[in-house]
Amino acid sequence: TEPDKNDGVSIPSLPPFDYCPPPYTGPSAADILSKRKEYLSPSMFYFYNKRPVNMAGGRMQYLFDENGRRYLDAFGGIATVSCGHCHPDVVDAIVSQTKRLQHSTILYLNNAISDFAEALANKLPGNLKVVFFTNSGTEANELAMMIARLYTGCHDIISLRNAYHGNAAGTMGATAQSIWKFNVIQSGVHHAVNPDPYRGVFGSEGEKYAKDVQDLIQFGTSGNIAGFISEAIQGVGGIIELAPGYLPSVYSTIKKAGGLCIADEVQVGFARTGSHFWGFENQGVVPDIVTMAKGIGNGIPLGAVVTTPEIAEVLTRRSYFNTFGGNPVCTAAGLAVLKVIEKEKLQENAHAVGSHLKERLTALKDKYDLIGDVRGRGLMLGVELVTDHKLKTPAKLETLHIMDKLKEIGVLVGKGGFYGNVFRITPPLCFTKEDADFLVDAMDYTMAKM
Ligand code: PLP
Repeated sequence: TEPDKNDGVSIPSLPPFDYCPPPYTGPSAADILSKRKEYLSPSMFYFYNKRPVNMAGGRMQYLFDENGRRYLDAFGGIATVSCGHCHPDVVDAIVSQTKRLQHSTILYLNNAISDFAEALANKLPGNLKVVFFTNSGTEANELAMMIARLYTGCHDIISLRNAYHGNAAGTMGATAQSIWKFNVIQSGVHHAVNPDPYRGVFGSEGEKYAKDVQDLIQFGTSGNIAGFISEAIQGVGGIIELAPGYLPSVYSTIKKAGGLCIADEVQVGFARTGSHFWGFENQGVVPDIVTMAKGIGNGIPLGAVVTTPEIAEVLTRRSYFNTFGGNPVCTAAGLAVLKVIEKEKLQENAHAVGSHLKERLTALKDKYDLIGDVRGRGLMLGVELVTDHKLKTPAKLETLHIMDKLKEIGVLVGKGGFYGNVFRITPPLCFTKEDADFLVDAMDYTMAKM
């Protein structure tokens, strides 16, 4: 640690790391920014970046700017980098497949594609073993919703208020926060009360929220529905773990109404919760359709929908195909990710380091009134900031301020939730106890100075 000149408090310093990136020789951050302003859509970039940094490289849980300065990536890309930036095994798999064959469509056989499909199916419970590959989470959820509609012959889908499932026509319907929605046709989705233990009207009583789904089906639909889609822990929504008992009860209601249950595992799946490989397993349910993306390719564009042979049959009656979905370079990355998770015991690490981190964050909550809630599981944790505990007034500006200060110290966290007042902590699963301590020390240091 180095002493802070202002008040003698020590600025926490990053844990040691045995890697230095090669010297950066590319254009300056200012040059890149001016091109970005002229040629790229502004969108989210400015939302996240008061002072944009040129990240010139990455290695495991760290990113390096153009000056070689190291940052702890506690957001993990956007929960996309599961094994670590440029993990050597994933890089090797990508490079060797790229040299062998870069593209293989449905026209040819290719082992990189079928091996990953087999490995995915082996990771899933029940009869979930038919895989459709896509390029993103949005595409995966679009397809899942279409499959549910085709299979049931119904159109109505139930999603949750506060959900994020993508941004194309169908998935934007399932997404449920005004900032992510545009005024385009998004038909057939009904949003149920969010089973949010912190802000929800029924607290942690999952069964009570589940009753709302029954009401929604009875009063808002014909009584028959295509399905229900949800995450087990909402990511973009602000790391909200659905109230206990909610999913088993809702799944049984949905089945009675003839619908299919879709688990969106785009953020929560692939070992992130530590306790289980899949998020839905934390509530003891087995979905009819599982969608995934983000971490499955360690940042490579790859998504998938997995369902049962009986349900999958609806897509074989006519031609369904996706030019790049299941590109062998991406599936080679996916297979390498699964092997790394196993070899490096990343699920166990997510559990151990996540539990330690949550404990320390909870202790921080006792120290600072600004922290209203600490929640989540494994390495999918949220810290919600409020200016008033009773009213739960969102501390939006404070969240932005702390994020910015953390970046100065060398820690990157995400933010989310409807009010943008929740820190999202979803680092690569190789995050260490020392990284966790550094993150908490940096938050502590920043909050102490406010
Ligand atoms: N589902 C969830 C839970 C997500 O968090 C996201 C993206 O943040 C998506 C779907 C959409 O994925 P993509 O951005 O890859 O289209």
